[in-house]
Amino acid sequence: MRLRNIRGSREAVAANEFVVHEPELYKGKWNSLFGNDHPIHVEIGMGKGQFLMQLASANPEINYIGIEKYSSVLLRALEKRATTELTNLYFIRFDAEYLNDIFAQEEIDRIYLNFSDPWPKDRHAKRRLTSREFLGRYDQCLKKSGEVMFKTDNRMLFDFSLEEAKIAGWELKEVTYDLHHSEYAQGNVMTEYEERFSAMGNPIHRLVAYRK
Ligand code: SAM
Repeated sequence: MRLRNIRGSREAVAANEFVVHEPELYKGKWNSLFGNDHPIHVEIGMGKGQFLMQLASANPEINYIGIEKYSSVLLRALEKRATTELTNLYFIRFDAEYLNDIFAQEEIDRIYLNFSDPWPKDRHAKRRLTSREFLGRYDQCLKKSGEVMFKTDNRMLFDFSLEEAKIAGWELKEVTYDLHHSEYAQGNVMTEYEERFSAMGNPIHRLVAYRK
């Protein structure tokens, strides 16, 4: 994601009613934020939020939380969110490295990772959102029946993710190197990056990881 420091973005995010400002306070009680006990689905690295807004609108019986590290990016999602009437979608400006500070054990039903930053240098592998370190964090806060759904057009990152999932003891299903021309294409909701990269002709890879 190209990062421009948008003046005032931090203040605008801090003042927004759809941003959870002290997410640590909700650890173990996210359902109280939504006022129901619906399943919780989280997108980490949500960018401008198109994917989550479409899902939240189509699935009112699911609670969605988007996590984004940078205010300047989150601001774009907030601008779009202001044009909707959604009650099942909140955002957090947060580094997912500390995910376990804000979610308790078995609190999340599904985690989406879409077009995550590839961190191509080996020494940065731990920062990849599908690394064994991150899978360990997901293992702590995902329900036993929970799953991680990952999409990317980056073949190296995808192959790395398949390996890491196996090393970390996760099972894999619905693995495809060309999502848009696969049996899983129907119902696929595109992200901003997905639209851009598939328009360039890049095949989209997708996996679902879960535990036995
Ligand atoms: N998911 C969106 C899409 O598919 O269009 C955006 C993809 S963009 C390449 C990756 C996003 O993940 C960026 O907005 C980046 O700031 C965010 N990100 C990267 N590492 C993160 C982390 N550790 N915690 C939260 N967000 C992160």
